[in-house]
Amino acid sequence: MFRIGNGFDVHRLQEGLPFRLGGLLIPCNKGCVAHSDGDVLIHAICDALLGAAALGDIGVHFPDTDAVYKNIDSKILLEKTAALVRAAGYTVNNIDTIVCLEKPKINSYILSMREMLAKILAVPVEQISIKATTCERLGFVGREEGVAAYAVTLLQR
Ligand code: MG
Repeated sequence: MFRIGNGFDVHRLQEGLPFRLGGLLIPCNKGCVAHSDGDVLIHAICDALLGAAALGDIGVHFPDTDAVYKNIDSKILLEKTAALVRAAGYTVNNIDTIVCLEKPKINSYILSMREMLAKILAVPVEQISIKATTCERLGFVGREEGVAAYAVTLLQR
């Protein structure tokens, strides 16, 4: 039995904040404004995983009104999400993602991010795909006001 899920997330960028993406700290003059550490890629993946298992969304499980999740490392949220999905009887077949941002260029970090996420999810790195695109200087991503991420996953029971 296969279950598909999709996730989407956006965070606003602000100068002087740390920029965390795919579980890594990436050098950048801006970082994401968030209740958690603002890892937009991990948040999109969590929503895809929860969606595929029909377990609600990241806001239901880890509300941004709960002080427990203030500045939390999103890798912990992914670990908790993976445990929920596992408890529902699913394994991760694969995850494919797109990160939309103008700066910084993240190509040189993609393999490390895939390895990090694969380790947390206990799957081979080949099952995790991360792609990056700019938005051709259009919209909030193009103006470098924010970063967006999309994720699709296939779970198997
Ligand atoms: Mg988020």
